[in-house]
Amino acid sequence: MSVTTSSAPITGERPSTSHSAFEDVNRFVRRAASALEIADDVVSAIVACEREVVVSLPLRRDDGRIDVLTGYRVQHSQARGPRKGGIRFHESVDLDDVRALASLMTWKTALIDVPFGGAKGGVAVDPRTLSEREHEELIRRWTRTMVHVLGPHRDIPAPDMGTTARTMGWLMDEFHRLEGFQPACVTGKPVALFGAPGREEATGRGVMQITVAALAAQHRQAEGVRVAVQGFGNVGRFAISAALERGMKVVAVSDVTGAVSAPNGLTPEDLLASSVSELFGRYEQTDPATVLETECDVLIPAALGGVIHDGNAARIKAPFVVEGANQPIIGGADEMLRARGVTVVPDILANSGGVLGSYFEWTQNIQEFRWSLDRFRDELDSRMATAYNTVHETSRRYACSLREAAFIVSVGRVVESFLLRGQVI
Ligand code: NAD
Repeated sequence: MSVTTSSAPITGERPSTSHSAFEDVNRFVRRAASALEIADDVVSAIVACEREVVVSLPLRRDDGRIDVLTGYRVQHSQARGPRKGGIRFHESVDLDDVRALASLMTWKTALIDVPFGGAKGGVAVDPRTLSEREHEELIRRWTRTMVHVLGPHRDIPAPDMGTTARTMGWLMDEFHRLEGFQPACVTGKPVALFGAPGREEATGRGVMQITVAALAAQHRQAEGVRVAVQGFGNVGRFAISAALERGMKVVAVSDVTGAVSAPNGLTPEDLLASSVSELFGRYEQTDPATVLETECDVLIPAALGGVIHDGNAARIKAPFVVEGANQPIIGGADEMLRARGVTVVPDILANSGGVLGSYFEWTQNIQEFRWSLDRFRDELDSRMATAYNTVHETSRRYACSLREAAFIVSVGRVVESFLLRGQVI
């Protein structure tokens, strides 16, 4: 059996500019800091990454060759608690990307108000080229080389693209061998191995809850709304499932294997397919690049970052874009969409159900007490609703976009903790 990961590059979609994903995030941080009248020296301190670990990971391939891969862990901030963030296995992983994702975690954890800071990790590797043994060996080696910066009260990894609950189980096991039994050292674990019922669906469920709230704020019902989704992995599938439960119509979906158009909507049975290519017989096959440009009410990019950019923003037809993925909109595209009246729900709000669910798993591991699925869902729904309302009210108060409002809330919270800790004179 091989480890199933469905990630792959979004070829031809991300523009080949020299722009920095980290700088993209920091632009929003600076804008929020300016609205909050935060001094420049404090801003410089909060945008910087606290620690960056880059390692070489020699991996013996099944055919006997040694591949030397590059692994990362960037710890952006611990102002509000231990650092928290996923591990990505993808060939596009580089230091700038990991910095951007680590800092997004700082702003996301602050926004959803969990006692964590921000971090992110990864390995530059195409996960589809890894056998199960290679995948396991790679995460064990990554853990051994990073163990000195990890721990339940230091830095807690979780799954991201190209890694799964199974990967986190191996990480936990390796950490235990080195440091003793501490299941709270990682989240997103299998339920049978100290995971939490509800964590796996949490990101997609949260994406859909926030989508419904954004629609309601513009007096729109969820029922009958047409949704297009890019990505058929953890986030995409659970978002689709939650959309169908609410009577929405999922009219287009794509993954790395292709895309389909379904004007009458997907059915719950379609979610049993292991990839979109398995749906080709049932629906019209389309060009994956055009899914983002589908005629629909809500577009949910839930795959890689950078897919909506200056080159295609003008062709996005959905009046609502809900960022299931991290940083799917880059460069000037955010501004272009806003100028056209498109409501963009930012990643740090829309997909924060994942880290909120991870927080619930972490607390359960520390207390050695398992919650019921109903309790998990109730707590998730209630805290996501609070986060949405806070962002919505802030956007009214400052007359700004939801993204700017989300950063105003989170930057304000991080700066407050940072200054109370006395980290600057
Ligand atoms: P995943 O590996 O489970 O799924 C990724 C999906 O993207 C797969 O279906 C893959 O086929 C698809 N994809 C890859 N290339 C594509 C292409 N060219 N066109 C269309 N689809 C393509 O990953 P995931 O966990 O669902 O994460 C997706 C995004 O959501 C990432 O940006 C991740 O950082 C973000 N995110 C994930 C979580 C989480 O809890 N898993 C939480 C917050 C944010």
